[in-house]
Amino acid sequence: MQDGGGNSYVGRFAPSPTGPLHFGSLLAACASYLEAKQRAGRWLLRIEDIDPPREQPGAADRIIRALESFGFEWDGPVHYQSESHEKHLEALAFLEASNLTYHCGCSRKDLAEAPVGPLGTIYPGTCRSGSDASEYAVRVRVDDTVVTFDDRLQGKQAQSMLTESGDFIVHRRDKLIAYHLAVVVDDNLHGVNDIVRGIDLMDSTPRQIWLQRLLGYAIPTYAHIPVAVHPDGDKLSKLTGARELDVEQAPAILINALDALSLDTPSELVDATLPEIWSWAAEAWDIGRLAGRQSIIVPNQQQ
Ligand code: GLU
Repeated sequence: MQDGGGNSYVGRFAPSPTGPLHFGSLLAACASYLEAKQRAGRWLLRIEDIDPPREQPGAADRIIRALESFGFEWDGPVHYQSESHEKHLEALAFLEASNLTYHCGCSRKDLAEAPVGPLGTIYPGTCRSGSDASEYAVRVRVDDTVVTFDDRLQGKQAQSMLTESGDFIVHRRDKLIAYHLAVVVDDNLHGVNDIVRGIDLMDSTPRQIWLQRLLGYAIPTYAHIPVAVHPDGDKLSKLTGARELDVEQAPAILINALDALSLDTPSELVDATLPEIWSWAAEAWDIGRLAGRQSIIVPNQQQ
């Protein structure tokens, strides 16, 4: 394994502790892990614990224990996003000092009539010239730039910052740092240079690239993997009743996950140990098999 140095690969898995590890999140963990292994890189684990209202007590520990039971080995300590709060504030201060942001006093009600695009409400710019509201969010300005990136699996992507995103929040009204800002600060801090994650986050990438540009960060490469869905097409998530993984069944579940990621595991693997399964998978891994795919229908026993 390479350590640090110049151009070496650094990937990561960055779960939010909003619930236990389920089969959908296991797919993102496996894909990012195998990509890092195959490229002789480092793989970091970051618990994105900066949104206490959405967190489930104990979920972070359960996720970590579940990952251990599945045989994942991360490089370095587990990172907790809350530990880099000072860095988030520094980045926010930089954006503010560079006059790239403004205070927005609009409430949800104020925005009820605002246009809604595929990414949600497009902020109409009401507070662009300032707000003296005592409770405010901080928004970053966008312009008519079309942010493009070449996703390693999903191909060329483009998003108009003005008409599809609009000025977006980097510091919430409740004084929590917004996800887009925290994620780019932490990826930059840890030298992450390739991001393998679910396609449900692909719409967020242009806003993250926008921030990376404003903050002068290197832009990582991205590979958005298909998302696990129930046979009826709903995304597997806590909301749609995705079950906590049974770590007693880790080898069998891991094999199901590898098959879901198009690896065609051989039948002999059924009797293999976790290290044997991982070493087979690291050899066989081919992220290209997921190219252009947006969803993976998950077998019933795994929902
Ligand atoms: N914490 C995010 C989630 O669990 C993922 C962030 C990312 O991979 O960029 O959905």
